[in-house]
Amino acid sequence: MGFRALVVERDDEGKTLAAVRMAEESDLPAGEVLVRVDHSTVNYKDGLCIGPGGGLVRTYPHVPGIDFAGTVESSDDPRYKAGDKVVLTGWRVGETRWGGYAEKARVPADFLVPLPAGFSTRAAMAVGTAGLTAMLAIMALEDHGLKPGQGPVLVTGAAGGVGSVAVAVLAHLGHEVAAVTGRPDQADYLTGLGASRIVPREEFAEVTRKPLESELWAGCVDAVAGVMLGRVLKQMAYGASVAAIGLAGGAAIEGALITPFILRGVNLLGIDSVMQPYANRLRAWSRISRDLPMDRLEAMIVPAGLSDLPELGAAILKGQVRGRVVVDVRS
Ligand code: NDP
Repeated sequence: MGFRALVVERDDEGKTLAAVRMAEESDLPAGEVLVRVDHSTVNYKDGLCIGPGGGLVRTYPHVPGIDFAGTVESSDDPRYKAGDKVVLTGWRVGETRWGGYAEKARVPADFLVPLPAGFSTRAAMAVGTAGLTAMLAIMALEDHGLKPGQGPVLVTGAAGGVGSVAVAVLAHLGHEVAAVTGRPDQADYLTGLGASRIVPREEFAEVTRKPLESELWAGCVDAVAGVMLGRVLKQMAYGASVAAIGLAGGAAIEGALITPFILRGVNLLGIDSVMQPYANRLRAWSRISRDLPMDRLEAMIVPAGLSDLPELGAAILKGQVRGRVVVDVRS
């Protein structure tokens, strides 16, 4: 039976166009599990893939959507049966194979995670790849000794997807959260999520040659990199860790020196959500269902439908999306 999908086509001159059209189950890639997709979301990579792909998409026509949550329609794998609620993030779904911007998706069973009990598909996509990554970052900081009461924890790119969830979870866990944003108009939103301090982005705008700065932060979830991460590393407390998840401000770590690592024992922890092993995914989703307050998640949600995606894809590439877009693919 036909179903609706956001399909990106490329013409002979290499120009791409994304539009909602009908697709067939026979168009879907191989995999053991057919999922009726309820919700998806919008990530930076989705912004790229709704457009010319930025080197991520291999073949056209293409259905983007790097994450989705839905209900199993049929399964050739004993781990899943019709009616099970599942979530998918990563594994390059929506990049190298058709993804979540369609009413149906077919994927390998290994790519799926069962939704925690009581978690809706809408809430799962309000969390999405961004929220899962925020949780993985917080787990990594905890594994390296972060505990409430040690001092303020910095979150950069705070009004974005990863940042919003990181602020809400850290505050709920009892941390004092300092939220860095370049959008002063988002201060109320961030304090509503639990931030106790708003730090203007400009405070990290300049590269310094200083080997170290005052010790300010007990931990950091960094979505920005660039000049900001170079400065933040020099401001970390003795033995503290930074979980680096993104590059919204550039791929280099500008002005970084070895001094924070060898004089203060600072740790830089790399976080990848795409190829994360299954056991860690399960642990992270279970922590999310425990440590992310649902009222704060609700406050982050911007609702959307399939036809809104071309506009939202362009907006996220410009850093203009706040919080978490939840796409109801059935609308
Ligand atoms: P969003 O676009 O939702 O948020 C990014 C935020 O970064 C913006 O909202 C803005 O926050 C801030 N920002 C944007 N541009 C700049 C800039 N030039 N300088 C400083 N700050 C800036 O994206 P996500 O939160 O979904 O993702 C954040 C990053 O993490 C992206 O680079 C993404 O590709 C990456 N990512 C990595 C994953 C992984 O597995 N490691 C998984 C998911 C995402 P504000 O307005 O508050 O300043």
